[in-house]
Amino acid sequence: MTQILNIALDLPLATLFDYRADAVGKEDIGRRVLVSFGRRKMVGMIVALASHSDHPAAQIKPVLQVFRDTPPLPQDILALLQFCSDYYHHPLGEVIFTALPQRLRSDQPNTLPSRRTYTLTADAPFLDELPARAMVRRKLLQHLQQTGAAPREALLALSSSAAKHIKEMLALGWIAQRQEARPPLAATPSSSCAPLPPQLNPEQGEVVAEVQSAAPGFIPWLLLGITGSGKTEIYLRLTASQLEQGRQVLVLVPEINLTPQLEARFQTRFPGIPVVSLHSSLNDTERLHHWLLAQSGEARIVLGTRLAVFTPMPELGLIIVDEEHDGSFKQQDGLRYSARDMAVARAKQRDIPILLGSATPSLESYHNALSGRYRLLRLTQRAVEEAQLPTIRRIDLRTEKPVDGLTAPLLRALGENLARGRQSLVFINRRGYAPVLTCNQCGWLAPCLRCSSKLVVHLREGRLRCHHCGHEERIPRACPDCGNPDLAPVGQGTQRLEDVLTEHFPSARILRIDRDSTRRKHSLKEMLHEVHEERVDILVGTQILAKGHDFKRLTLVGALNVDGALYSADFRAAERLFALLMQVAGRAGRAAEPGTVLIQTQFPDHPLFEALLRQDYEAFAATQLAERKQAGFPPFCHQALLRAEATRLETALDFLRQARNLAGADDPAITVYDAVPAPMARLAGRERAQLLVQAESRQTLQRFLHHWYTALSALNARQTRWSLDVDPLDF
Ligand code: ADP
Ligand code: ZN
Ligand code: ZN
Repeated sequence: MTQILNIALDLPLATLFDYRADAVGKEDIGRRVLVSFGRRKMVGMIVALASHSDHPAAQIKPVLQVFRDTPPLPQDILALLQFCSDYYHHPLGEVIFTALPQRLRSDQPNTLPSRRTYTLTADAPFLDELPARAMVRRKLLQHLQQTGAAPREALLALSSSAAKHIKEMLALGWIAQRQEARPPLAATPSSSCAPLPPQLNPEQGEVVAEVQSAAPGFIPWLLLGITGSGKTEIYLRLTASQLEQGRQVLVLVPEINLTPQLEARFQTRFPGIPVVSLHSSLNDTERLHHWLLAQSGEARIVLGTRLAVFTPMPELGLIIVDEEHDGSFKQQDGLRYSARDMAVARAKQRDIPILLGSATPSLESYHNALSGRYRLLRLTQRAVEEAQLPTIRRIDLRTEKPVDGLTAPLLRALGENLARGRQSLVFINRRGYAPVLTCNQCGWLAPCLRCSSKLVVHLREGRLRCHHCGHEERIPRACPDCGNPDLAPVGQGTQRLEDVLTEHFPSARILRIDRDSTRRKHSLKEMLHEVHEERVDILVGTQILAKGHDFKRLTLVGALNVDGALYSADFRAAERLFALLMQVAGRAGRAAEPGTVLIQTQFPDHPLFEALLRQDYEAFAATQLAERKQAGFPPFCHQALLRAEATRLETALDFLRQARNLAGADDPAITVYDAVPAPMARLAGRERAQLLVQAESRQTLQRFLHHWYTALSALNARQTRWSLDVDPLDF
């Protein structure tokens, strides 16, 4: 019987498409299909079966192929993606195809690879029966003799001609091949015994007991615990109890490259338990396999970044979101979703608990905890008894004049730490040599011609680079305006700091870690290894270094250039700075030795520092929430930003003015602001403008956006690219 199907396609259209197929039933919902769309063929997904179509039967095209190579996307994930599409007002087809691993977006066959292993047969010759020149065969046979059975990869690694010899020896009947229909999982053999977990301290014990004694079902927990207070230990305990109950656990982290230790900790704690990771540095095949292993239930723990929130997990029992405040949980282009918020939605939908952890929660989450929507758990002490909180001090830039960015007290402290054989970290949130190049005669500043920004000096490479659009050019020999050859880099970046520190401390081993120095794959890992091996005295780095790394010998941190965020137009800048400084401070004195943090600032009396010195997140959050409440900012309201870009600013603004007219002015619960140029008005040659919409309740905003989005979609916007950003973090 021919069935009509609602198919989602990866197109920027908020509609499903009708196709027909034979021998397709309910069990095929969530399967990928191949259809012809216009002149091309596209992969789509069956979202629903329909009893009839509004289109004449003759116009409904048949599905070309139903892919049965992988299991269909389960119903709960489809429902989550539908929710995501509704909430962010983004076409369902695009949402689905953003969530799927790349390989499932294509029409190539997708299966788990068979894992081929080889064993010796009774017909295999003895090694001394082989002629002397049969070197490769001898090597392969010897390996099989020693190991009993070996995966194909292990044999291939022994010689470049191994593949040829394997084939020949199979033909000779010397070896036998066995197929296992799955790739090796990242799990240590179950025979190795797990290290004993540490005894929980009383605070940790209370937290675990509270979570475990709660009624089953959806509970959002917010775990507020300073760096080193043992949050990860809590994650491990709660995971253990889920595993015992036969449940799967999903752990979301902001940047898996920056938290390599977390994966290792899960694997060593649960030997024999299959753990898979899902993050951007996997290749497409690995990503697909990990996804399928999670979906089949073989993988019990999934550790991943943002996109992993959509991983099918049939026996999911708990979601953990580490560093829940981190901005990288929000995707900043295409489907602008928050993985943390989708994780909460998913937990609610599955009726399971979710644990959000952070030393500095987002004010949204903290506010939810204070108002009773989330349940608050606190860890106030460092877990290891002798580990002390670092001492944080301010260096007043008004009295201590910096030379090349560094003040005398900071240099002195670095010198002393070096003499004591300890590691130091100098933190500055700007890579490159200097943020601008200027002409001392006429005041010219090297601009990016495609953006409203300045070019950053990268002296090592002799180039100027735009950190926004990627534009690059040679450093000019003379000022293009007045011809003066005396051009000077102004301000500090990591490269310059590295040079200056080398001048001051010629014997010190200095290592710079930023996006430029770690561009090569694995280079970050190698560099971190150097630090752990104590082959580094002074680290210079950006926020790459702020997160998650546990450097045992690091006892001094200097923080430069933090003032910009104190009086920023962005109302979230202070929140971010506080989180960053708490994190940076968390790097100092992780082990037995106390650490010191020195912050250079022009505004030592700013209340942010008062709270920071006491490492008192809740005091800081209280002042911030009071300010936000008074100003009517989130979390006391809910926002959406309509962004538009065009080749001319006026075109983008015009579009937004039309959009504003469509919004109507009658609903007092909705505030629609004026269309304005974006703070960064030009980016990569496009002019950008934006329009802010705000409401006190999320439901009101959602209801408004629903109607507005439909009206916007009908607008003629051929010259303008526009997008809606619900709960925007960046303006
Ligand atoms: P966080 O995730 O809050 O930064 P961790 O869980 O990484 O903290 O704990 C910090 C350090 O303390 C780690 O080295 C961890 O092994 C150790 N630790 C955590 N809990 C305990 C405990 N109960 N007893 C002993 N050591 C602990
Ligand atoms: Zn000039
Ligand atoms: Zn640019």
